[in-house]
Amino acid sequence: MTFIGSTVLGFPRIGPDRELKRALESYWAGRSAEADLREVARRLRADTWRDLAAAGLDSVPGNTFSYYDQVLDTAVTFGAVPSRHAELGLSPMDTYFAMARGTASAPPLEMTKWFDTNYHYLVPEIGPETRFALSDRTAVEDFREARKLGVETRPVLIGPLTFLLLAKPADGAPDDFRPIDKLPELLDAYEELLAELRKAGAEWVQLDEPALAADRAPAELEALRNTYRRLGDRSDRPKMLVAGYFGDLGDALPILAAAQIEAVGVDLVAGASAIDRLPALSGLRDKTLVAGLVDGRNVWRTDLDRALTTAATLLGLAGDVAVSTSCSLLHVPYDVDAENDLDPQVRQWLAFARQKVGEVVALGRALRVGRESVRGELENARAAVASRASANRDQRVRARVDSLRPEHSRRGDYRERAEAQQKSLRLPPLPTTTIGSFPQTTDVRKARAAHRAGRIGLAEYQRRMRDEIERVVRLQEKLGLDVLVHGEPERNDMVQYFAEQLAGFATTEHGWVQSYGSRCVRPPILFGDVHRPESMTVEWARCAQRLTDKPVKGMLTGPVTMLSWSFVRDDQPEADTARQVALAIRDEVRDLEAAGIRVVQVDEPALRELLPLRAADRPAYLEWAVESFRLATSGISDGTQIHTHLCYSEFGDVIDAIVALDADVTSIEAARSRMEVLDDLNAVGYARGVGPGVYDIHSPRVPQPDEVADLLRAALAAVPAERLWVNPDCGLKTRDYPETEAALSNLVAATQRLRDGL
Ligand code: GLN
Ligand code: ZN
Repeated sequence: MTFIGSTVLGFPRIGPDRELKRALESYWAGRSAEADLREVARRLRADTWRDLAAAGLDSVPGNTFSYYDQVLDTAVTFGAVPSRHAELGLSPMDTYFAMARGTASAPPLEMTKWFDTNYHYLVPEIGPETRFALSDRTAVEDFREARKLGVETRPVLIGPLTFLLLAKPADGAPDDFRPIDKLPELLDAYEELLAELRKAGAEWVQLDEPALAADRAPAELEALRNTYRRLGDRSDRPKMLVAGYFGDLGDALPILAAAQIEAVGVDLVAGASAIDRLPALSGLRDKTLVAGLVDGRNVWRTDLDRALTTAATLLGLAGDVAVSTSCSLLHVPYDVDAENDLDPQVRQWLAFARQKVGEVVALGRALRVGRESVRGELENARAAVASRASANRDQRVRARVDSLRPEHSRRGDYRERAEAQQKSLRLPPLPTTTIGSFPQTTDVRKARAAHRAGRIGLAEYQRRMRDEIERVVRLQEKLGLDVLVHGEPERNDMVQYFAEQLAGFATTEHGWVQSYGSRCVRPPILFGDVHRPESMTVEWARCAQRLTDKPVKGMLTGPVTMLSWSFVRDDQPEADTARQVALAIRDEVRDLEAAGIRVVQVDEPALRELLPLRAADRPAYLEWAVESFRLATSGISDGTQIHTHLCYSEFGDVIDAIVALDADVTSIEAARSRMEVLDDLNAVGYARGVGPGVYDIHSPRVPQPDEVADLLRAALAAVPAERLWVNPDCGLKTRDYPETEAALSNLVAATQRLRDGL
């Protein structure tokens, strides 16, 4: 393997049947031994190498397996194990899992989103005392293991710069310390690893530097230059492919083009704008340009003709051109062929990881041997692309979007709304509520599963759900909450539930994608024009409202979150897609109002998640994000109260957008940040209702009334009682009933205490 030819930057690792998930959870529960877990992992790796080699890739990526997370792997490889985990005295495997999941005495590393994907990585903690050293040789063993099976791999590592840029300073590090200060030391350890890989026989190695797709300061770009100058200078290393993905590499691109490396990987899907700048980069002439032409983030079949045309324009620009995916295929499911219930037409448009490997192979062959050698593949792709382009235009949806005017996204003056709402709701000061879901009991889950499998009929299923709703309503009345919810027992997931009912969405059976560790999600596929054939939540909300005089809050998922947690069509701007989804939600909000529901919450926990990596792209995103939320929530009278909910308290980058949403009440995570969020909101002039979460639902711990009262007192220092709401910081569906009842009861008691003092 002297050339790269056709390749992918990475592959899913959870297993086509989520074998790794099951093996991990069984090991964590103490039901199986480490050797069993290792055996499952070994088989998954072997299957992946064999499949990728058999599919005809010229270069197979290696070291793409992880027991939990590739950033955690990198931390362990180079010895960045926090002392609280190292001192537990556990086996290497259990130390690793302690870092990932924590133990009773040692909290885990923090987890956060991997760039703008829905994958989450563990944040390395680096301090002045961190001693980088090559401490774990999994990457080398992985290479040897593949070679024994007859597959020469190209080990994939996270690049040193991205690793340090993703890390955070360890607790107790001086204020001016930044992980990147430790770059020279880390490079020593990387050099050692590269040399060992070379000695083991690796011809190529891939260093992933996705951090280059975000804005980088001049000093960071300088560090990039130094990093690859240093690594490049070594003679005892494999050839280096440095891959930057998730966008245009901007100022980092010329640096990589000039670096002493053998190949540069660029994402020509998310970063297609880079194509025009490639001809000017003379440094590429003696390098391989690895062109990321097949979208690694989305599920659509590639327009192979177009990709080939692009590839052909690149041919003269570099010493060699290889074709690849835009990023690792970690972010798409394994195999479309595993889906049995997909509409055949929609299925024809799709390519999951295995199909994408086939596309890359076909492109590579077309480029090297000629188009004729893959005529069949090209024709099939052409037919799929044409079919997709001609289908899914719903003229009624399009006409409706076209007729939208600014006033459709505007509500009346807030003062008047607040007055009308108070007249209809008659809420006490410091109104109490919850975020929507109540604990999902085994009975509820069983009933949903039985209904899906056809073991119980619709009538029986609805009866059980109504019983559950009644229980939840009675409980809330008993607890003394002011604005009630129906508890969401009928929902499997806050996005999938709506995707299953909206036209233009498909859902999959096996389309799992790793979210973090053993956790996977099955994103719906938004393939066509979206509309709402019939109401989605009205019957449940009405059922709850009939049981009580207290207002019941209707519960919907907002357009941005629907998009963010789905695979979205790529044949029109996201803003247009968001508008269609917003109109469907708007219809639902109006129907809820017509059914007598006076409070409607539209959750947007993903508002910040879709935020573009580069600051220059953010205003345009925030504009359509805000506009679509407002479109969804503006079709109603002043007296109907709109709530929204956001799951995080670090909202600096979107704070103006939160104000612009114009919701009457915003609930937000705050229990862990001690109400500081309120000062942040005040600072930008937010003057509507706000419900800072007063307890953390992510932990089973029951907050005591004193604690809640303290938090409320702190909140009242920032926000007057008329505007302050009292609620937990997220939905309760993952909790159990005993702790939930106790916590809510304490929440109400604390609120009452403060009301008495007002
Ligand atoms: N209404 C949803 C619930 O309570 C909100 C979930 C979320 O914010 N992620 O479960
Ligand atoms: Zn939440």
